Amino acid sequence: MIAQKLPHVVILGAGFGGLTAAKKLKHAHVRITLIDRHNYHLFQPLLYQVAIAGLIPAQVAYPVRTIFRGQKNLSFQMGDVTAIDFEARYIKMDGSVIAYDYLILAAGGQTNFFGIESVQENAFYIKDIRSAIATRNHLLSLFERASREADADKRRAMLTFVIVGGGPTGVETAGALAELITHVMRKEYPELDVREARVLLLEAGDALIASYPDALRRATLTLLQKKQVEVMFNARLIGYDGQRVTLADGGAIESNTLIWTAGVKAAEVVETLGVERAGAGRVRTGASLQLPAHPEVYVIGDAAYLEDEHGQSLPMLSTVAIQQGKAAADNIRRAIGGGTQKPFVYRDPGLLATIGRNAAVARIWGLSFSGFIAWLIWVGLHIYRIIGFRNRLVVLINWAWDYFFYDNQVRLITRE
Ligand SMILES: Cc1cc2nc3c(=O)[nH]c(=O)nc-3n(C[C@H](O)[C@H](O)[C@H](O)COP(=O)(O)OP(=O)(O)OC[C@H]3O[C@@H](n4cnc5c(N)ncnc54)[C@H](O)[C@@H]3O)c2cc1C
Repeated sequence: MIAQKLPHVVILGAGFGGLTAAKKLKHAHVRITLIDRHNYHLFQPLLYQVAIAGLIPAQVAYPVRTIFRGQKNLSFQMGDVTAIDFEARYIKMDGSVIAYDYLILAAGGQTNFFGIESVQENAFYIKDIRSAIATRNHLLSLFERASREADADKRRAMLTFVIVGGGPTGVETAGALAELITHVMRKEYPELDVREARVLLLEAGDALIASYPDALRRATLTLLQKKQVEVMFNARLIGYDGQRVTLADGGAIESNTLIWTAGVKAAEVVETLGVERAGAGRVRTGASLQLPAHPEVYVIGDAAYLEDEHGQSLPMLSTVAIQQGKAAADNIRRAIGGGTQKPFVYRDPGLLATIGRNAAVARIWGLSFSGFIAWLIWVGLHIYRIIGFRNRLVVLINWAWDYFFYDNQVRLITRE
């Protein structure tokens, strides 16, 4: 009976933001319902490793129910949220209705193809486990097909891998794929001349990882080039039919693989809400992360749009989602206790991107690092941040194995 009287906090999304908010409310006098369409939390920064056969899904995902085993004020429900009624204060999930006193909307993002339909239909992307596995199956299958293809043009198209988007995901995927080819596939396919294989990274602008300092952007380019990645700047893609990449300047690249990493926008559910949205379809929030017309609703992470003190929109990064998850939970406590809401201030912990097996670029504590030291920082931080002791251990062993033996261990084609 008493439990029923506690304020009910519904959290939509068990990603970085939702998970953090739920944990932060562990000792609050609230009843929490955490909802996600998947029964696991996914560590998206390592998804590209699944796509290039470096890790298996179970190493980058962890069951939500296991994470919250000890949290008595929380129950988890797996389901798809299709609508939210802000006036009546309920959400609709798979046909049922769940009422809330406070809502934390942490639904994350989805891949943005910017309306280029041919790319949406034919490209691969890396956003969830399904898309990462599809990419892995496709890449590995092409090596099988190429190994028995006599026609040189067809073989070259099979072995030309185009990655679009010079942000951290594009850079990381390109570097890792180039290494998979030169260090692993070379040994595995002696009948193939892997020098025929090309990894191209297409960037519409004139710089890689645009938000990083100049020196790191240059270091990134050098590190990628050392790994034989061909970087093309000012290369704006306008179409892809599964065989040929067409560029705005009239150029074309014959390729059976396009991996699209060039855009993210807010999750589908956000499109149905009828609230003010800003860049990338994200929900514009007030300074304390609330919806202006519905202060009991907090929007956080990739789904939320908020500007920093310089008028720049906060990036779609796990670090933002995590800090906002904490801030929203604290503000809900304040609201329940009758206190005033605190505006959210993002504290930038730095930037990190890896380029293959032993190189990375990092900006941490105001200092820039590149090369092996940055890679060690990247490994340490990612191991620390992956959820679950077993996962940490297995990923560490996997990487150590890879590092010493140049060998990716999960090259299974699992397509039915
Ligand atoms: C390939 C890749 C690499 C990345 N690398 C980095 C990196 O190196 N560093 C970094 O800081 N960030 C990185 N990011 C970005 C980072 O993952 C996101 O910023 C972060 O996940 C956002 O957290 P979130 O809580 O807003 O959403 P998410 O973590 O995406 O979680 C949203 C959750 O909501 C659920 N959901 C959505 N809609 C519904 C619905 N209608 N019903 C039920 N459940 C729903 C989803 O299943 C998901 O679990 C990367 C992202 C990708 C895709």
